[in-house]
Amino acid sequence: MTTALTVSGKWLSQLAGYNPCYRCIWIGYNVRPLPYQMFPGIFSTIDSYNKKIVHAYIDEHGKLPDWLASLGSIDHYIKPPHYSKFSIFHEQSGITLRGEADGIFRMTDASLTIIDYKTSRYSTNQEYLLAGYEIQLNAYAFIANELGMGPVKHIALVYMEPLTEQSTIDEVDSVISQAGFLMQFQPKIVPVTLHPDKLIPNLLSKAQQVLQSPIAPNRSSTCKNCVAIDTLTEAAIQNPS
Ligand code: SF4
Repeated sequence: MTTALTVSGKWLSQLAGYNPCYRCIWIGYNVRPLPYQMFPGIFSTIDSYNKKIVHAYIDEHGKLPDWLASLGSIDHYIKPPHYSKFSIFHEQSGITLRGEADGIFRMTDASLTIIDYKTSRYSTNQEYLLAGYEIQLNAYAFIANELGMGPVKHIALVYMEPLTEQSTIDEVDSVISQAGFLMQFQPKIVPVTLHPDKLIPNLLSKAQQVLQSPIAPNRSSTCKNCVAIDTLTEAAIQNPS
C-alpha cells in the first residue's frame, strides 16, 4: 500500500539534473529538521515586497508595470493561494503536490501566466538551477491546470538583479539620503518552457520510488560531503559530551 506523501514544487526540483543524489533527497525528506540549514531571510523579504508592489501598482493603474509588460496584457492578478489550497493529489504516484507561486496573472485571452521572482543575477551558466526552476514553475502550472484555474499558457522567471555598480558621485548622491540608502533592482524576464504534463507526472513517479524506500538509498560516488559527515560522526562518538 502506498503511504501518503506530500511534496512541494520546489522540493520536486531537486530531482533535476543528470545525477541527483537520491540519498540526500531521501534524508532531506525523512529527517527533519536537518542541522545547519540556514537561508538568509532577506531574500524572502525582498520577494514578498516585490509581489506587494506589483499588486499595488496593478490596483492603481490596471496594468503591469512597464518592466513586466513583455509578459503580455493582463486582465487582473490572482492573489497566489496558500500552499494548503494550491495543491492536488496525483493518484498514480499517491503524492500530494503543492506549492505557492509568486505571481499569477489572468491574461486578457483568459489564460494564466505564472511567474517566480528570483533576487539574483541571471547567468546562462546556471543550467542546474534553471533545470530546477523549470520543474518548480511547471509544477505550479500542473497544479493550476488540475485545479481548473488554467489554462496556463506562459511561465517565466523574473530575475531582480541588484544594481551595485554606482561609480560617479552623482550616482552615489542619488541613492544616499538621511534615512539610509536605496538599492535598485533591474528586472530580467526569462521565459521557461511549458510542458507540465510531460515533466511532472514522471517526476512524481520518481519521487514516489525514492521516498517509498524504507532505507536511505546509496550515496553518490562523486560527493565528498558524506565522508566528511562520517568523520564528524566518528569524532562525536569518540568525544561524547
Ligand atoms: S553523497 Fe553527498 S549528496 Fe549524497 S547524501 Fe551524502 S552528502 Fe548528500
